[in-house]
Amino acid sequence: MADQTFNDDPQHEPTATSTWSRLLAGNRRFAQGKMTHAWQDRETRESLLDSQRPDAAVLSCSDSRVPPEIIFDAGLGDMFTVRTAGQIIDDSVLASLEYAVDKLHVSLLVILGHQHCGAIQAAEAQLGALAARVRHGDDSPQTAQSLASILDEIEAMDDAGAADSAQDQLGEALEQLVSHDDSPIVRSVGPSVLQAYEAQLRDGADIERVHIAHTIETLVDRSQPIQQALADERLVIVGARYCMDTGLVEVLSF
Ligand SMILES: [Zn+2]
Repeated sequence: MADQTFNDDPQHEPTATSTWSRLLAGNRRFAQGKMTHAWQDRETRESLLDSQRPDAAVLSCSDSRVPPEIIFDAGLGDMFTVRTAGQIIDDSVLASLEYAVDKLHVSLLVILGHQHCGAIQAAEAQLGALAARVRHGDDSPQTAQSLASILDEIEAMDDAGAADSAQDQLGEALEQLVSHDDSPIVRSVGPSVLQAYEAQLRDGADIERVHIAHTIETLVDRSQPIQQALADERLVIVGARYCMDTGLVEVLSF
């Protein structure tokens, strides 16, 4: 039946694994330019008038180049999608994802970051500005110095002990400043950037990966219903990163 959606049959509850395999197959079709655009027709739309039963929820970046339904070649009723810049989490995001887990019974939750994420670049730039202020004082002109170059300067200091303590002081000051920054993006993404730098990861792709892991951690930490769903084994959370140059989704954790 062409108008029967994937999960109409109550005897056939898809597992998180089969749902994820289906999404990845859709992503491969997308990357190869062989999309089927299934479940986007009038019949599907009409079959979904009374209810929805998506198999997956996705939290992804709002970036216009990263629409989950397109990159997974998915259709109407397939996925419950929440999008914010840098896939950051706030109370509305939590409430929406908890609704998907507890009321719509999705078995899979995908945290989807992506290559060249502007929110991460913005947070990194703001960290550079804050670090310059910490190092050179409030009165110095705000030069366009990057966090990496400031850390390089510190590492190049002759006295290794002094370099270590300067680095620790800067790290602590930045943690404080980030937690009080005006921008919710900096407050949410900044700690991921700091965590990546602490692990000696400065490459944009690596920072994106750390941010995805950090987002999952924050989500589980802040949501009791999601903790419960994981404990009951009703839910699997997947971390993934979409690469714009290949069109493929990189699986970070499953
Ligand atoms: Zn982004």
